[in-house]
Amino acid sequence: MPIIDAHVHLYSPELNRDPAAWAAAHAEPHWAALCTRVRKSGRPVQAFPSVDELLRAMDAAGVDRAVLLGWYWENPATCAGQNRFYAACVQAHPDRLSGFATVHPSAGKDALAELRRAHGEGLVGLGELSSHSQHVAMDDAHWLEVLALAGELGLPVNLHVTDPVPTAGNYPGRVETPLEDFITLARLFPKVNFILAHWGGCLWRTVAALPDNVFLDTAASPLLYAPEVFAEGVRACGADRVLWGTDYPLELYPREAGRETVAGFLTEARAALPPAARDAVLGGNAARLLGLGA
Ligand SMILES: [Zn+2]
Repeated sequence: MPIIDAHVHLYSPELNRDPAAWAAAHAEPHWAALCTRVRKSGRPVQAFPSVDELLRAMDAAGVDRAVLLGWYWENPATCAGQNRFYAACVQAHPDRLSGFATVHPSAGKDALAELRRAHGEGLVGLGELSSHSQHVAMDDAHWLEVLALAGELGLPVNLHVTDPVPTAGNYPGRVETPLEDFITLARLFPKVNFILAHWGGCLWRTVAALPDNVFLDTAASPLLYAPEVFAEGVRACGADRVLWGTDYPLELYPREAGRETVAGFLTEARAALPPAARDAVLGGNAARLLGLGA
């Protein structure tokens, strides 16, 4: 069974050269607040690796494929730029990388055209989006049109979710994402598979039953939860609902010098998962949602 990291972010060489200056020039302050932040220890929250550095981190960990996720940018032009960059990445490494498109829902018809274009270029999902962070109401007509098109194109949708009970996750730039909103969307679009990032904010603790089209990923888990969340999440939601994903290049072990995000978290997940759930969570579920053959 392949090992698939279902939640990775990469950026263009232009952005990587000077992320803070790039964010200022492109009017992306929210992204800058989250991704160019420096911890109290003085360490940046993440580095800005190239595609080749990602592939080396995957090789070192024994990861077969990574899913490149977009970002909930504040500007449609930034979304389009990232889509072009991701299309080039997956065309260069179709055996190792899959990519999701991103759009700004308020762009209306242009957002729909951008999603069609990105899909035509080989991107196979939509997200990571956060309508809450993009200041788009959950019942916004353009947002609902974007989700309807994702359904028409058969694209899974990854959405950023924060836990309503913040523990270690109470970081600067955090935006509340009411969990009922995601259940409402999933019921509204039963044909769209929704992947709720960051364990979906552990929504099984408050929502009685998950709709069949709701999945969770484990992005950033070591920063948010103890390893026991793996057993709890699988028990509550089922092994077929959880996708292992890192949130690379976010540094997941800031207090452990030398512990790599991808390799370190794969080791943690393997040890924390019930043995019967390992194949599904570490790659089988992602392969199924992405339509990847064995
Ligand atoms: Zn996220």
